[in-house]
Amino acid sequence: MSSIVLENIRKTYGRNAPPAIADLSMEIGSSEFLCLLGPSGCGKTTTLRMIAGLEHPTDGRILVDGKPIVSVADGLFTVPEKRNMGLVFQNYALWPHMTIRDNVAFGLTLRKMPAAERDATVDQVMTTLGIARYADRYPGQLSGGQQQRVALARMLALQPSVILLDEPLSNLDAKLRLEMRTELKRIHAEAGSTIVFVTHDQWEAMTLATTIAVMSEGELQQVGTPDDIYERPANRFVAEFVGNLPINIVERDDGRSDALHAWIDRCLTLFAVDGARVASAGIRPEALRFGSLSDEEVTRHAAGQGVIVDIVPTGGSWIVELDVAGHRVFAIATEHPQVTTGEQTHFWVERHHLHLFDRDKKRITL
Ligand code: ATP
Repeated sequence: MSSIVLENIRKTYGRNAPPAIADLSMEIGSSEFLCLLGPSGCGKTTTLRMIAGLEHPTDGRILVDGKPIVSVADGLFTVPEKRNMGLVFQNYALWPHMTIRDNVAFGLTLRKMPAAERDATVDQVMTTLGIARYADRYPGQLSGGQQQRVALARMLALQPSVILLDEPLSNLDAKLRLEMRTELKRIHAEAGSTIVFVTHDQWEAMTLATTIAVMSEGELQQVGTPDDIYERPANRFVAEFVGNLPINIVERDDGRSDALHAWIDRCLTLFAVDGARVASAGIRPEALRFGSLSDEEVTRHAAGQGVIVDIVPTGGSWIVELDVAGHRVFAIATEHPQVTTGEQTHFWVERHHLHLFDRDKKRITL
């Protein structure tokens, strides 16, 4: 399996257009499952297409297993067919007039693989992906999820050393997405392939990736394990982009000094943090604790106080909305909250769950 290195990649689509990719350097280790994660337009697909060879970078180098396959300065550009990479897009584009078997066999036939070997490979891949029983049907006779499997099978039959996937699960319903997610994890574990997976869905990235690369406006924001990205976001963008429910942010220099700001100040004192550098603080809803506390506990936890505005059941957990001095603060409870709307409640946070950012919105390590 192959490692990929992107070196100072820049991509502009027109002379006067802002760069789609500004200056991207990144290493994708052999057998890594890397998710490129970011909002629409941040440059994920462009990056994937440059790795695949469907797009020329404006500047920079791409290396596979240490050997350059693209080097703009040297005029080197390896064509897609010579890269041994498999690519599956969101709209899987099967050949409608060919049977499923012929679709899966297509690339091998082009490569002039001997018929017996080709048929054995096709049978094996179709069995692995659970589509063998549809071998003689046409794509139009399959559901979206089944077609998605055929697209994956067609790519896997070519035994690529790198698998490139662009939002391959976005056309599927929730149940199929879950099934295909498991399938992809299994393929990755069994074949040990290097996978680059583009998604704007942070849940998908969190549950699939060994490494996540978060992008925004053509720039890399952070590369790390799902835990790194979630627990130690490098900046405000990552903190706010990742998380099922948005992180609560308190701006310390917004000119207000009310009960919420006073609570953050008390937390900083309790946690012995120099407040001068702290421009904003973030607390994930699931990290916010709430309930009645004794005077001693209020002091020990530097707790604040707010009013319960709403309790929303979400099936197995509850979103609790608090009003703190006119600010909306959200908490998640995994057990039925023992509070009612209109009630005053204390809230507090553990030291390691308080995310602090400086004026440049960069993380301050506690
Ligand atoms: P999405 O999730 O919506 O697919 P993305 O993160 O994959 O978005 P890209 O498709 O890589 O983003 O686009 C990055 C930027 O480059 C965007 O501003 C987009 O408008 C621009 N862009 C992409 N392809 C082209 C093109 N063929 N011509 C001109 N501009 C383009």
